[in-house]
Amino acid sequence: MDFEALREFMVQTQLIPRGIHDKRVLDAMLKVPRHLFVDEPMQFKAYDDMALSIDENQTISQPYMVAIMTELLELKGNEKVLEIGTGSGYQAAILAELAKEVFSVERIASLAGRAEERLYAIGYKNIHIKVDDGTLGWPEESPFDRIIITAGAPKIPDPLTGQLSENGILLAPVGDRSSQQLMKMIKIKGTITEEFHTLCVFVPLIGKHGWKTGE
Ligand code: SAH
Repeated sequence: MDFEALREFMVQTQLIPRGIHDKRVLDAMLKVPRHLFVDEPMQFKAYDDMALSIDENQTISQPYMVAIMTELLELKGNEKVLEIGTGSGYQAAILAELAKEVFSVERIASLAGRAEERLYAIGYKNIHIKVDDGTLGWPEESPFDRIIITAGAPKIPDPLTGQLSENGILLAPVGDRSSQQLMKMIKIKGTITEEFHTLCVFVPLIGKHGWKTGE
């Protein structure tokens, strides 16, 4: 299959018409081989307009959702970014194209291991993954210029707000278990402002400051 042509088609039909305009984001979506982040039998679907299953009942988000979240992070290239919910590692790869350093936390060890293998094989050197409850953040590496949660949260975990830099942006799907709204939090002079964006559906954020179980 001509995956490069599929990526171009994805950008032209799913991202640009829906308003994604940051050239750096569009270039990253054109570059990162999304098909390498799903199992081989699913590769032909990797550039379709939908979320796909990965292992352990988790999902890799729809391309548009990855693009809009990335655009809302306003990355310029020098940022230290924290991602909660490594999953397949695809969003981490997109972030690594656009920021300086990416730290990603995944609670399921097998997913973290596979993501690490893939990212290493593709050649990323600026992504660091650890297995832990990401609702606690990554205190040793904080503060972060950007924080992105890629699982649905009942509220923003307090430790994450605390680990956000001055002028930092935190993005998360916040809501109930079945649907959420993308929330963008900006910290300026210690004051937090919140903006609400598109509705979305993510698998639950499970942890001390998230949902208590996966059910
Ligand atoms: N960003 C991923 C998709 C994430 S799916 C990608 O690009 O493929 C959501 C992920 O969040 C799942 O892998 C799930 O196991 C993980 N997750 C849920 N709760 C978590 C927590 N408290 N800490 C870290 N990861 C968590």
